[in-house]
Amino acid sequence: MKINIIGAGISGLTAGCYLQMNGYETEIFEKHSIPGGLCTSWHKGEFTIDGCVHWILGSDEGSSFYKMWSELLDMKVIPFKNHDERLELEVEKTRDKNGSNIFHLYTNLTRLQEYLIDLAPEDTKVIKSFIKPMRIMQKFDLPPVMDDLPLIPSIIQGIKMSKYLEFLYWFLKLKKQTNFTIAEKLKNPFLKESFQLLYDGEEVNMMILTMPLSCFDKKSAGYPIGGSLSFAKRLEQRYLELGGKIHYRTPVKKIIVENNEAKGLLVRNDKIHYSDITISAADWYYTVFEALEGKYVDQGILDLRDLKKLEVFYSVMQFSFGLNGDFQDAPHFSRFPLEEELISPDGTKYKRLEVHIYNYDPTLAPKGKTVVTVSFYTTNREFWINLRKNERPKYRQAKAEFQEKIITLLDKRLGGIRDKIEMTDVATPATFQRYTNNWKGSTQGWLPGKNLLAPSPVQHELPGLRNFYNSSHWNQPGGGLPIAISTGRSIAKLITKKDKKRFKTK
Ligand SMILES: Cc1cc2nc3c(=O)[nH]c(=O)nc-3n(C[C@H](O)[C@H](O)[C@H](O)COP(=O)(O)OP(=O)(O)OC[C@H]3O[C@@H](n4cnc5c(N)ncnc54)[C@H](O)[C@@H]3O)c2cc1C
Repeated sequence: MKINIIGAGISGLTAGCYLQMNGYETEIFEKHSIPGGLCTSWHKGEFTIDGCVHWILGSDEGSSFYKMWSELLDMKVIPFKNHDERLELEVEKTRDKNGSNIFHLYTNLTRLQEYLIDLAPEDTKVIKSFIKPMRIMQKFDLPPVMDDLPLIPSIIQGIKMSKYLEFLYWFLKLKKQTNFTIAEKLKNPFLKESFQLLYDGEEVNMMILTMPLSCFDKKSAGYPIGGSLSFAKRLEQRYLELGGKIHYRTPVKKIIVENNEAKGLLVRNDKIHYSDITISAADWYYTVFEALEGKYVDQGILDLRDLKKLEVFYSVMQFSFGLNGDFQDAPHFSRFPLEEELISPDGTKYKRLEVHIYNYDPTLAPKGKTVVTVSFYTTNREFWINLRKNERPKYRQAKAEFQEKIITLLDKRLGGIRDKIEMTDVATPATFQRYTNNWKGSTQGWLPGKNLLAPSPVQHELPGLRNFYNSSHWNQPGGGLPIAISTGRSIAKLITKKDKKRFKTK
């Protein structure tokens, strides 16, 4: 049986690997010249700029994601960096008992609890109730990998899931907890302000923080040394070793449908590649409304398009600098306040700066040099996408002017970097959209809704269309690599099951 896959991102490569393992003949059609999609890096002069992963869930033994990655890659040979600190946060109004305005979010939970209690013994009860759910999460294999589709629990799945009851109790208890609700309970002014500022003054559900923190503590959410592209290339290599074929620089124009059955792909030069099954591991909007011309939709899909059910995940502005200096003593990830509000050309106002210093990955810069990246999340992505499309010189000018402001701020912060700059690079939502096709330059598909337990409104199949599947980070709100890989695996498993074959993972 022949299966065509659109997109050599992490989800497409994952689906391809599992299908090859199960005896199917697959071919991937990728518009770019390299694998990885959003999981990418690019070279500029002597430097490598990373455009994606800061941590990969399941980087070490003990979680189902590790087991899943290990079915695809030899995880033991990939060097992962596990940071001692997740974040250094500079607060604005208060000081800790030692007069410092820096809050340390340690990744070791014992150390974090001791640090917090030492700073604020009066808040011991609140601190312990913040740490406890993470310890509970660690007892379980979280997040649980539902490896059967559709996601309606079967009896067997129900039994498998019943071991999560204790976690569910805690989850329901805490599901409304945010950094603000914790801050409200804290008496210590420094801790209160630190929790308020954890996400640059935004209110964020605590699951977003506690889930990764519970994994950081177990050293199971590390950064792959070598960066995102080198990680994606390992998956590409596995796919090719399994006999898969990738057509690079081959954008898919249309999915060919006959009698409501996906039959093949129309690609560059109007060439048609036929197949028995088609998987789109490319962008959701492109797939449904361009490749399939919006012919296979229902009200639920139209509501998604009209953003009535979910919002699209933030896009990002990324300013990178290759610096002559190793900045070994600087924190790898910090957020600090700005003296004056910074207004982006797209109109977004920023009060704080988020800085990544890649001083822990020697492969990204020559010895004695470092890549530093400043990132800004934005929802006004259309500004950049339209400006690049319609007024290219203005687009360049807007990037250059904003970059100049960032250099001035960094120069002050890192102690004179202007004359150390050897490389500059700016990526906007237009960049992410152009290279990967992601709708509105989304970095992780859909933004999770308020109810984290709600089933995803995105379907893996489309109404009325046979022999077709979607597989990407758009399938489950929140996105990210875990969703990309688990969806790719689930789709492969579903195809195997429909074919009445036992699913093989070797
Ligand atoms: C700045 C940034 C930081 C991130 N940090 C993390 C992190 O720390 N941890 C984490 O887990 N996740 C992170 N993510 C998210 C993660 O990178 C994505 O969720 C994931 O890579 C999505 O994979 P995918 O295969 O579903 O989709 P994509 O990566 O979008 O892959 C789709 C592929 O399809 C191709 N394609 C599209 N249209 C066509 C067409 N018409 N014809 C042919 N090919 C086509 C694209 O070129 C692309 O290669 C980050 C993302 C960004 C941008």
